[in-house]
Amino acid sequence: MPDYNLKVSELIELCPSAKAVRFELNGNPFNFMPGQFIMLQADLEKTEKFKINGDKPKIQKRAFSMSSSPTEKKFLEVTVKTTEEPFFSDYLINYLEVGEEFNVKGPFGMFYFDEKKANKDIILIGAGSGISPLMSILRYINDKKLGINAHIIFSNKTEKEILWREEIEKLSGKNNFSHEFTLTREEWSGMIGRINKEIIQKKLKDPNKTDFYLCGPPLFVKDIERILIVDLKIPKENVKKEIYN
Ligand SMILES: Cc1cc2nc3c(=O)[nH]c(=O)nc-3n(C[C@H](O)[C@H](O)[C@H](O)COP(=O)(O)OP(=O)(O)OC[C@H]3O[C@@H](n4cnc5c(N)ncnc54)[C@H](O)[C@@H]3O)c2cc1C
Repeated sequence: MPDYNLKVSELIELCPSAKAVRFELNGNPFNFMPGQFIMLQADLEKTEKFKINGDKPKIQKRAFSMSSSPTEKKFLEVTVKTTEEPFFSDYLINYLEVGEEFNVKGPFGMFYFDEKKANKDIILIGAGSGISPLMSILRYINDKKLGINAHIIFSNKTEKEILWREEIEKLSGKNNFSHEFTLTREEWSGMIGRINKEIIQKKLKDPNKTDFYLCGPPLFVKDIERILIVDLKIPKENVKKEIYN
């Protein structure tokens, strides 16, 4: 399994609380399935900008899904958003600089898109930073021109938090992709409120032949899973989920 020390090559601000962090692969092979995650480990006090309170170890590691596609061989990208009480994510968003090195191990996880087993229709449902592995899946399907009908439903609190909005909008309409954004804490011209049965049903052709990929906080994933399995009678094996806890 790849276990590398990789340099941060680029930081892209997506909104004040979120960034894409790219790690240069420098020719190192890193094969993964779209949707999988890596473990990032670093000494957070190495550059003396960030102070660890109490007796927490200075070397910390966290899981992050890759948002880049496996077809991208120059870098690995993760999409990070600070949590309500952030620590490692605070470091990544507010203190990290290009050139810093992280230990990167992976890939891990059973949440991934496999073109050999996938149905032709897929619905990706995410909230907040849960967009990360869904972007990897979308980018992969687009790069490989797999002819999959992919619909993405993305929930956020406010409009400025819709990560990768421009790219998702650009991809929609191309290669049978479509999208729906919904906001839960702000009025806007688009859809308002939590994702419900009706929003999902609009794009559901055959419940037995559609794969679902859910990613986000525990309560969000639990809620959507209930709608799919109990209300919409989607077979359990067609529902794949990644929970960020
Ligand atoms: C499989 C998986 C994939 C994931 N993928 C992603 C992803 O793609 N994108 C993403 O954004 N997240 C992802 N996550 C979530 C991510 O791994 C972290 O759990 C998340 O970023 C929260 O970590 P944190 O260290 O910021 O907060 P926590 O681990 O919750 O720590 C917060 C605690 O640290 C304390 N604290 C704050 N600052 C300090 C300090 N200076 N010194 C000491 N203590 C402090 C706070 O008071 C609070 O109690 C994923 C999780 C999993 C399980």
